[in-house]
Amino acid sequence: MPESAPASGAVRRTRVIVDVDFDKAGKQFGFLRVPNSNNDSAWGAIAIPVVVVKNGNGPTLLLTAGTHGDEYEGQIALHDLARALDPGMVQGRVIILPAHHFPACLAGTRTSPIDGRDINRIFPGDDRGSFAQILSHYVTHFLLPMADAVMDLHSGGHSLECMPCTMSHILDDREVMARTTGFAAAFGAPMHIMSREVDGSGTFQWTCEERGILAMSSELGGGNRVDLRGLRITERGVRNLLAYLGICEGPVAPAENSTSFWLLPDADCYHFAPASGIYRPFHPLGSQVQAGEPAGAIYDIADPAKPPVMVMFKRSGLLWTTRGQGRIATGDASAVVIVPRS
Ligand SMILES: [Zn+2]
Repeated sequence: MPESAPASGAVRRTRVIVDVDFDKAGKQFGFLRVPNSNNDSAWGAIAIPVVVVKNGNGPTLLLTAGTHGDEYEGQIALHDLARALDPGMVQGRVIILPAHHFPACLAGTRTSPIDGRDINRIFPGDDRGSFAQILSHYVTHFLLPMADAVMDLHSGGHSLECMPCTMSHILDDREVMARTTGFAAAFGAPMHIMSREVDGSGTFQWTCEERGILAMSSELGGGNRVDLRGLRITERGVRNLLAYLGICEGPVAPAENSTSFWLLPDADCYHFAPASGIYRPFHPLGSQVQAGEPAGAIYDIADPAKPPVMVMFKRSGLLWTTRGQGRIATGDASAVVIVPRS
């Protein structure tokens, strides 16, 4: 059992062994030890780094990066923050998972090399399930009950390239949405997008929102590299959230520009490849695009006589995301369009 058991009536069992005390004042570097019995290691576990900084009374911010292992800006920013934060700087508690889905982070992949799971599609997890399910179950039932706010840092990863932004979902709970808007403005990314995802269930953020926890994610770069502007926005944004919540003293660092708010309201915003090949985008990120015009073309390199297959925009708006690499397969996302919040 972890040191901090959840409230009465909540899930009380986990197979994860934790060697930090979340209620202890001071700064601790430790691990979440998630069981991983395999042919080479009968009682083996994988140690996921966790850092806790606590002092006095105040809110708890849970910071996570590496939920997808091929998204790097957040991993770097939280690695630095973990060493920089001292208890004397904190009023409340900061829990940091700089490499949340650690096996994927080590592999530099979106999904787990152990069980093949995308941890951001299997929340709230299952303590009797696979490695990623055990970990997500622990995060849901043991870390989230401690958290007043959650920031899950993402980027476009290997497959996508995104204009840097923070993100939350379009919710029926207007009060949670309003609080999230303030959280986003405090982070200070150039854009905040409120979305209806094509597959939002099972995400970490959805699980936080369902529980009424102030939560946000981000897309701060992509293309399987470290985006320097995205990294600067991440570092500044995380510090700003600590100041916004009153955990650290301000002042809040000014952003490049104030945050503009956008919507990703329905599935027509997403454009998927109708064929496999090389994707040639026709527009740079940030372009204003029109419904009915071509977004890009997919080339079948094996057949020079065959004209490329066109991908057409279904919606007018701002081109926010495009394919992050040259090759594309049928069904892959090739472009995502957003519209201004009215
Ligand atoms: Zn991600």
